[in-house]
Amino acid sequence: MAEPIKSILIVGGGTAGWMAAAALNRSLGPHCAVTLVESDDIGIVGVGEATVPPIRDFNALVGLDEAELFRETQATIKLAIEFVDWGRIGGRYLHPFGAYGLGSQLGEFAQTWLALRERGLADDIEAYSLCAQAALRGRASLRVPDPKSPLSLLFSAYHFDAGLYARYLRRVCEDRGVKRVEGEIVEVRQRSGDGFVSDVKLKDGRTLDAELFIDCTGFRGLLIEGTLKAGYQDWSRWLPMDRAMAAPCARVGEPTPYTRATAREAGWRWRIPLQHRTGNGLVYCSDFLSDEAAHEDLVGALDGDLLAEPRRLAFTTGRRCKTWDRNVVALGLSSGFIEPLESTSIHMIQSGIHRLLQHFPDATFSPVNIAAYNRRVSAETELIRDFVILHYHATQRDDSPFWRHVAAMSVPDSLSERVEAFRDRGLLYQVGADEYFSQSSWLAVMLGQNLIPRGRNPLYGMGDMDRAEAAFREMKTRIAATADALPSHDAFLTGAGMMAAR
Ligand SMILES: Cc1cc2nc3c(=O)[nH]c(=O)nc-3n(C[C@H](O)[C@H](O)[C@H](O)COP(=O)(O)OP(=O)(O)OC[C@H]3O[C@@H](n4cnc5c(N)ncnc54)[C@H](O)[C@@H]3O)c2cc1C
Repeated sequence: MAEPIKSILIVGGGTAGWMAAAALNRSLGPHCAVTLVESDDIGIVGVGEATVPPIRDFNALVGLDEAELFRETQATIKLAIEFVDWGRIGGRYLHPFGAYGLGSQLGEFAQTWLALRERGLADDIEAYSLCAQAALRGRASLRVPDPKSPLSLLFSAYHFDAGLYARYLRRVCEDRGVKRVEGEIVEVRQRSGDGFVSDVKLKDGRTLDAELFIDCTGFRGLLIEGTLKAGYQDWSRWLPMDRAMAAPCARVGEPTPYTRATAREAGWRWRIPLQHRTGNGLVYCSDFLSDEAAHEDLVGALDGDLLAEPRRLAFTTGRRCKTWDRNVVALGLSSGFIEPLESTSIHMIQSGIHRLLQHFPDATFSPVNIAAYNRRVSAETELIRDFVILHYHATQRDDSPFWRHVAAMSVPDSLSERVEAFRDRGLLYQVGADEYFSQSSWLAVMLGQNLIPRGRNPLYGMGDMDRAEAAFREMKTRIAATADALPSHDAFLTGAGMMAAR
């Protein structure tokens, strides 16, 4: 057996850096020293406010108290994303978490729903999702694990203040022995021969060495790109967004338990309700919209008073060609960025950490192990990319040059094959165990964007359709009754001790 790794330096203290510190410290214990270096002068991006359900597993893995997390980060519950004006202006749909139906096989659910709908016997798909029904009523709670309870279907994530989340994780990590160093790295030095990173030099002359380096320096990619030149695969031909303008506004009314994503002339805007304020942002393509017009669009449609001047961010969608190169692993924005439409960036940090633990290196840094890690990360990222492209590709909008551009653009073969399979006969499939988005998610967005199958599997129309109709009616009634019985969002947060002090 080769020697285990005994020292890790995490470079960067944004969401990625502190999530990595919390998980590595928890998983490796005293066997490996974890140090994090960050620069207060550079600061963090701090705009990731919407998440997806697996983050609850991450927080449990690192041993966070969920009620405390809600209070510390001003968090609210997220059950879905509402898409407004995407397929066509005036249209809306929900992409809810969890599966449709009451624990039935989704393929069977979708095909039976298609067969019933043909006969006018099925309701809108949202009627069969507990998360959608709770979201529409402004009701919230947390999932219970007992599979016999309908609340086992109530999958949720958080809306939180990303800056507060990083600060909270920092406090937890420091209490558990993670060493934090404040300072700006001005030089990254490499070993002669194999080019492994040996140490980093700070502005004040201090040096920090380690065996394994985690690059969490955000869009800069200080080690992975600045030093190792791992390369970047640019995806802007499919995901042309390259700017965002973000601004908080005052909270108005009770927070909705869902994110809203509204399509605009050359992009889309997000609305993310937190306990103390609402996060807003416009994501746009600079070829089609100027910064001035974006600013006007953002501040012109807020539902509360503007609380801070909008911040502008620039990015190029894509992914690092190798997210692990020699003894450097990139996590977070340094590993790539698929715009925030489906709130997947923080999830990708989590899944990168999970895989790093599965492929944890020893002192030999086996190239076979590193290549396997890179393959899995690339495959997962590309599947998420396809899902996000779908929202632009499957549109009937032709009211602006931007929407005409995205409706006409060519898309990856992996996506067109999926779209065709669904259009042909409502076929849904999962590509491997590493695919994040479920068949339910694909179904929600394809139907929501008005991609209606031409046919279906004939087997599902042959059975007893009266029985199928009765089962669907019963399912809808049970889901509605369960949603009706939930408390309002604010009442749940207060009752569960999750509301921050005002
Ligand atoms: C517009 C927008 C909206 C987003 N919305 C969402 C969302 O809703 N959901 C979601 O999951 N994700 C979202 N994201 C992504 C999310 O914000 C990031 O994934 C997350 O914040 C992680 O950022 P990071 O830690 O990689 O980088 P950063 O937050 O940029 O942190 C970089 C760190 O590196 C340090 N650093 C850099 N250079 C040096 C140096 N030379 N020396 C020392 N330290 C250095 C900095 O000090 C900082 O601590 C969004 C991103 C953008 C751009």
